Amino acid sequence: MSKKFLYLFKEGHDAFGGDQTTMKNILGGKGAGLAEMTHAGMPVPQGFTITTEACTQYYADNREINEEIKADIFKYMGILEEQTGKTFGSVDNPLLVSVRSGARQSMPGMMDTILNLGLNDQAVEGLAKKTDNPRFAYDCYRRFIQMYSDVVMELGKSFFEERIDAMKERKGVKQDVELTADDLKELVKEFKQIYREKQGSEFPQDPKEQLIGAVKAVFRSWDNPRANVYRKMNEIPYEWGTAVNVQQMAFGNSGMRSGTGVAFTRNPATGEKKLMGEYLINAQGEDVVAGIRTPSPISKLHEEMPEVYDQFVEIATRLENYYKDMQDMEFTIEDGKLFMLQTRNGKRTAQAALQIACDLVDEGVISEQTAVLRVEPKQLDTLLHPQFDAAALKAAEAIGKGLAASPGSACGRVVFSAEDAEEKVKDEAWKKVVLVRLETSPEDIVGMQVSQGILTVRGGMTSHAAVVARGMGTCCVSGCGNDNDVVIDYDAKTITINGHLFHEGDWMSIDGSTGNIYEGQIATVASTENANFKRFMGWADAARQMKVLTNADNPRDAQNAVDMGAEGIGLCRTEHMFFAEDRIKAVREMICARTVEERKTALAKVEPYQEADFTAMYRIMGDRPMTIRYLDPPLHEFLPTKPEEIEALAKDMGMTTEELNNVVVSLHEFNPMMGHRGCRLCVTYPEIAEMQTNAVIKAALKVSAETGKMITPHIMIPLVGEVKELKYVKDVVVKTADKLIAEAGVDMKYQIGTMIEIPRAALTAGQIAKEADFFSFGTNDLTQMTFGFSRDDAAKFLTAYYDTKIYESDPFQHLDQVGVGKLIKMAAHDGRETNPNLGLGICGEHGGDPSSVEFCHNVGLDYVSCSPYRVPIARLAAAQAAIKAPRAMKD
Ligand code: ADP
Ligand code: MG
Ligand code: MG
Repeated sequence: MSKKFLYLFKEGHDAFGGDQTTMKNILGGKGAGLAEMTHAGMPVPQGFTITTEACTQYYADNREINEEIKADIFKYMGILEEQTGKTFGSVDNPLLVSVRSGARQSMPGMMDTILNLGLNDQAVEGLAKKTDNPRFAYDCYRRFIQMYSDVVMELGKSFFEERIDAMKERKGVKQDVELTADDLKELVKEFKQIYREKQGSEFPQDPKEQLIGAVKAVFRSWDNPRANVYRKMNEIPYEWGTAVNVQQMAFGNSGMRSGTGVAFTRNPATGEKKLMGEYLINAQGEDVVAGIRTPSPISKLHEEMPEVYDQFVEIATRLENYYKDMQDMEFTIEDGKLFMLQTRNGKRTAQAALQIACDLVDEGVISEQTAVLRVEPKQLDTLLHPQFDAAALKAAEAIGKGLAASPGSACGRVVFSAEDAEEKVKDEAWKKVVLVRLETSPEDIVGMQVSQGILTVRGGMTSHAAVVARGMGTCCVSGCGNDNDVVIDYDAKTITINGHLFHEGDWMSIDGSTGNIYEGQIATVASTENANFKRFMGWADAARQMKVLTNADNPRDAQNAVDMGAEGIGLCRTEHMFFAEDRIKAVREMICARTVEERKTALAKVEPYQEADFTAMYRIMGDRPMTIRYLDPPLHEFLPTKPEEIEALAKDMGMTTEELNNVVVSLHEFNPMMGHRGCRLCVTYPEIAEMQTNAVIKAALKVSAETGKMITPHIMIPLVGEVKELKYVKDVVVKTADKLIAEAGVDMKYQIGTMIEIPRAALTAGQIAKEADFFSFGTNDLTQMTFGFSRDDAAKFLTAYYDTKIYESDPFQHLDQVGVGKLIKMAAHDGRETNPNLGLGICGEHGGDPSSVEFCHNVGLDYVSCSPYRVPIARLAAAQAAIKAPRAMKD
């Protein structure tokens, strides 16, 4: 039996036993909704759905609709003719249809719809005669020509709109509805003329040809640039495809007893439980949204057509009760009769999502667990960052767009270096700055912290600027040079973005949630913490099975994270503590030391700083676990680069400039990411591990004594690829730690674990687990090394990979579950086999990405660790994963 590619709206519900998921997968969201409403006996213009599988088939057949499916389409048109008593292609009694796209998930405005299909030069006359309403008939025809030309032939909209405007001017009228039948007839002539000029042929008169053309255009629109961008943003797989709905027209443009509208069962901006909507009399399709005339609020319908209003309210209520969620509906009224054209779970702001979830629980409609599934984790972001004022943003026009690297909104005066940022913000007039850099580096941290937002020309979503900004909860747009024309001149202190020149001190606004860049100031509003949020997150926390920790390496971030619900620190990077002005000198002396003695002397200067840092961190974290990772980056990152700095350092160290220059040169690496870094540093210089252990244990002892609660330090050795390497460093740590603990005469336990971030570590995890108390998957490096491309450079060529659909998303943002995920799964399994008590977590950027968090839950990790502002997102994502697929509890 060949596959069934078409379903009547009447068939949809029974064919899939009313299973909503399958119905959406096969019929698309719109098709599923139309089938359900039909099943429920609601007034729906009849029609049929061509499945998403037919879309896949269309692409498999090299973008052609094969003969079998074509034949089916006409067979179903035949059924529709019987149902409606009209004939497709007839002159006297033409059946007109809409051809509508509809993917599994709604993609508003991304794909295209064609209305009034089936009209031609004769049928329009027939329709005029039959309805005795030539104005209406010609309005349908001119709309059809417009939409067909735009959607199917891709001629654009503007030529047609210009003609309508010109016609209105000639006639001295303001609104489309004031144009007469003759005017519209004339417009049809002009439109057909445009079509002939642009297309080089006559407007197609054969309805069958029109229909196949339209269906193809909808399938094709699945792959249009707009849809591709939207899909990538929303993680909608390309392979899903879109369904096509062919539906008899209901005419909202047939007079003053007709109209079209949209409505929500609750307010999508605030969540308030009150029907909200708008409609336009004597209008069709998108007229309401397009702002052609000002629509009336739905409450007015109560006065204008009370029976229609009552019927609509009754249907809306039934739909909401049936789907147990806020509905977004489209309807049309034809000569006083209501038709439902669409229903779906409505999109809503984060604030509304929380309000609706809480209300539905209170109304007894859904359980707390179902409520937890109703809010998109990513959406929580918008609650936690300052946002641009919606009206101000609407009025502003973006001058360019980079990557939406860290959400929130920033408005400030442009500065071009971290030092300038630090300096300028002390001045009242400069309090708000936006830091603009080619890219940022670790020494820019302080400057980044004082900035409202960060804009970089280079780099991707996991570039330094992006990662650090997310950690700080600072808005960041990265890599704006990837797709825009950007020139930055540090000397002149200017940046030009697509021809817009900014000098130092000029105002710039950037939107880290969209990547948009604006000239001038856009007002921001503070985000508020609301009671619904706390209540909702309580339900999420009750449901989740993984712990959520944070990546933080300073007291401010740590406190922030705890406030956002972090249960500990999964990654405390010690090197970030090395850059502050007062200690970088000692660090540099350590690196440039020529003998072990010199190095120890220098380390002795660094140690008190580290100890003070850890003490401060422990004081905030209390007995929450804190995983401290030992020095990780290549040493040369800390070296002076400016001649005057080199000179000064040489003097301090009793070297000549030349000698020091030689040291600097000798530290140069061709590929530092794969060079002398991570635990390799401790293998060559065990003194570093000794110093760091001293600092950790002393701090832990001190704070334990203060609070009376014994801390268990978690020490993490980075970049291990071989068990003996871990053992070697571990021995240094154990010896140092045990001595200090014995001296203190207390019973302090500590754990030593490792990052799994080199593929070889994952492959030999069974052995490594013998020496490790825990594994933390460092998925940034693990992704980089598994794919073999650098996370700082990948942004440059990944665009081409998205365009060609080789990859659908950035593997540094969404964990590659197939490849990297396989390594994680294997390492978790092998590690636990050797060491059943092995702790397992993830501390890469993926720890805050909902789909990656779900993966971590499913492979049995104990925790995820992410940047502070992503903690709520991870909490919710972990809860949703647990509700969808609860795992057996460990005891
Ligand atoms: P989108 O997915 O962009 O919302 P739709 O397929 O819903 O596109 O079509 C847009 C609008 O066209 C609908 O809101 C409705 O007003 C109008 N429309 C679509 N099909 C019909 C129909 N059969 N009868 C009347 N109007 C229709
Ligand atoms: Mg719609
Ligand atoms: Mg790493």
